[in-house]
Amino acid sequence: MAEVLVHVDHADGAVRKPTLELLTLARRLGEPVALALGAGARETTAVLAEHGATRVLTHEASEYADYLVVPKVDALRAAVAAVSPAAVLVPSSAEGKEIAARLAIRIGSGIVTDAIDVEAGAEGPIVTQSVFAGSYTTKSRVSLGTPVITVKPNSAPVEPAPAAGTVAELAVGFSDSTRGTRITERIPRRSSGRPELTEAAIVVAGGRGVNGDFTVLEALADALGAAVGASRAAVDADWYPHAQQVGQTGKSVSPQLYIAAGISGAIQHRAGMQTAKTIVAINKDPEAPIFDLADHGVIGDLFEIVPALTAEARAR
Ligand code: FAD
Repeated sequence: MAEVLVHVDHADGAVRKPTLELLTLARRLGEPVALALGAGARETTAVLAEHGATRVLTHEASEYADYLVVPKVDALRAAVAAVSPAAVLVPSSAEGKEIAARLAIRIGSGIVTDAIDVEAGAEGPIVTQSVFAGSYTTKSRVSLGTPVITVKPNSAPVEPAPAAGTVAELAVGFSDSTRGTRITERIPRRSSGRPELTEAAIVVAGGRGVNGDFTVLEALADALGAAVGASRAAVDADWYPHAQQVGQTGKSVSPQLYIAAGISGAIQHRAGMQTAKTIVAINKDPEAPIFDLADHGVIGDLFEIVPALTAEARAR
């Protein structure tokens, strides 16, 4: 059976959820082989095996923490040479997309980014994307080399599927260009304690309608274990950080549930959230375009509705 290489995103051995989703998709295409790099790589192996990795390749070296993405590209290239996979799957984070693009160039392959689904096809994986701000869904297939595919978080379920997970050390040779850009300092982002926006299963987002006060939305988010997002109008007004902006010039999210409060639903905002599985809109204007997109709509003042939702969520 063909093998499918999965690039593992982890923090000191803790595997992030988008990687487990990739393993679900990889199993549809063949036998998943996971590649874990850097400090803690070996600690990832048990979780990867529980979610279907038949083999886990690891390589620990200080280069992965000390330099920008190139060492990871070197390692993926070495893994592609060692495994000859039917496809390479990479999480669609900013770093993941850079790694995937550089890898595709190095190995002379085609690439598809921001996939929302991947299925097996007679001539290679069929990749689904949501394009033109979600107006169209396309299906495509890489016709050159080993397909390199980045997949958006929350595009597939996490499914336990115990597999052998045989662990082997990958041989990686770094070139001089690997050490081209050294990281001089890492400044940790102040943590809100909430899930990362692009990985969260639930996002509570606010727009101009919150009128500068996100505390009601934060309370609901905390009751639901959700991340908080914002429209560009809210970000431009300095009510919320740009890192939390959803949309064309912000982040793209695909949660199970997206609650849009005080957001009109401009096309540029939709571009970042309309692949959410369920959309709930709260808006006092019954004509707001967000209602065209929403699965459930509540017409009314968010400052009355959101606290009522929070109380209900806390009561459960
Ligand atoms: P508005 O459009 O002003 O809507 C506010 C809504 O709140 C209204 O529908 C109103 O009825 C409702 N409301 C007011 N008070 C209440 C209340 N008390 N209770 C309930 N409802 C209430 N936008 C993004 O979001 N993300 C992007 O990435 C993005 N990128 C862009 C890129 C470009 C190139 C351009 C030109 C624009 C971009 N925009 C983006 C901006 C976008 O066009 C809209 O201007 C923006 O999304 C509007 O934000 P909003 O819905 O919060 O504000």
